[in-house]
Amino acid sequence: MNSNPASLSDTLYGPAGSVYLYSLLIVIIFMTMLVSFRLLVTRRKIGYLSMIIALGLLVIQHIQMIVLAYSGALSPGEEYTSLLLKVLAFVMVNIGIYQLYNATKRRDFILYGFTFALTVCVSITYWSAHRWLVGNEELHTLLRPLGMDLFLFVLIFLCFMLVHPRIGQNGKYQTMLTVYFAAHAIHTVNVYLFDGKQGELRLLELTTPFLFYIVLFLFIVERVIEILQAIYTSSITDDLTKLYNRKYFDARVVQYVKSAVPVSVIFSDIDNFKKLNDTKGHHMGDKVLKQVARILTEETDESGICGRYGGEEMVILVKDPDTDPLELAERIRQRVEKETVVTVSMGCKKWRRRMSPASLIKGADKAMYEAKTTGKNKVVQG
Ligand code: GH3
Ligand code: MG
Ligand code: MG
Repeated sequence: MNSNPASLSDTLYGPAGSVYLYSLLIVIIFMTMLVSFRLLVTRRKIGYLSMIIALGLLVIQHIQMIVLAYSGALSPGEEYTSLLLKVLAFVMVNIGIYQLYNATKRRDFILYGFTFALTVCVSITYWSAHRWLVGNEELHTLLRPLGMDLFLFVLIFLCFMLVHPRIGQNGKYQTMLTVYFAAHAIHTVNVYLFDGKQGELRLLELTTPFLFYIVLFLFIVERVIEILQAIYTSSITDDLTKLYNRKYFDARVVQYVKSAVPVSVIFSDIDNFKKLNDTKGHHMGDKVLKQVARILTEETDESGICGRYGGEEMVILVKDPDTDPLELAERIRQRVEKETVVTVSMGCKKWRRRMSPASLIKGADKAMYEAKTTGKNKVVQG
């Protein structure tokens, strides 16, 4: 295997190896950027810009590393900008991750500004360290980046303390921070103990970030899916009761009726609800709406779909042929009477051939109206 050791070691640890690996990293970062862009376009939230700026910084950082891989020894200016980019990109990525899950508040900007200012202040130690250090010139050169490298460890720790508890996908985030910590620890050991010449450590230092960026990519993809799912769910459900909204309910009734499935519709309306609102307040009214909705959902279980049709009107589409809609409605009526401060009037209508979806719902509504006019708190079959 080692017939051509010079080229193998160059491929692995030399400038060519760095170029391959950094180029691949740029591709992954770029893909992550595209996904983040999708997020920005979908949600139009300025907060997501942080992630795109962070990823842009990372691309610049890695392009610089490719250039530097070929330029041999780094000038202090080059080493300084590369370090500063690395730390700033880390700060930005974590701000971006935080903003993916949290609304940006004014006080957050103060914290971000403080972190950036602190980063820049710490980075100045790169230029001033020689004033406090004893020892020869070579030692000074070696220890110049130490302040920034240690500061990065502090930042990783702060992210564990401050960002980790405030976001979703904690497992992935924890993996990301751990991998970043490992990569940085390997880098630090290699630079300060082996003068950056330990080949295997160098290779590890180059490859560990892959894991970091792949997990970051998955993290952002997952967030996009979560957000799209939330948008869809909120477009078909009612915020207060979490039942399906009228539009979704109507569409399901049309779908089943068109396929000639023998379904039934139950229409329910809370009795004297206006009085409850007037005497006990809207807050109490909302609480009761949620209680009634919960009873409907629990009793319907898998046998149908529950929706909120209007203010205090709730509906059920019974799909299961083995469920008797009258019995189901009666169970709900009894539970509402027993468990809440209100009662409900209900109407049932079974679908028959050639009945339109609209007249099925109307039939159930009419039966409910009959229950209202004949004493309330009862179930009527239409
Ligand atoms: P009936 O027994 O004849 O049904 O009388 P009712 O008072 O229940 O009927 P009405 O339709 O006159 O009153 C419905 C009330 O429902 C009016 C409105 O204030 C209230 N309402 C509608 N939506 C909401 C809501 O989201 N929250 C609360 N708290 N009240 C609501
Ligand atoms: Mg009512
Ligand atoms: Mg009503």
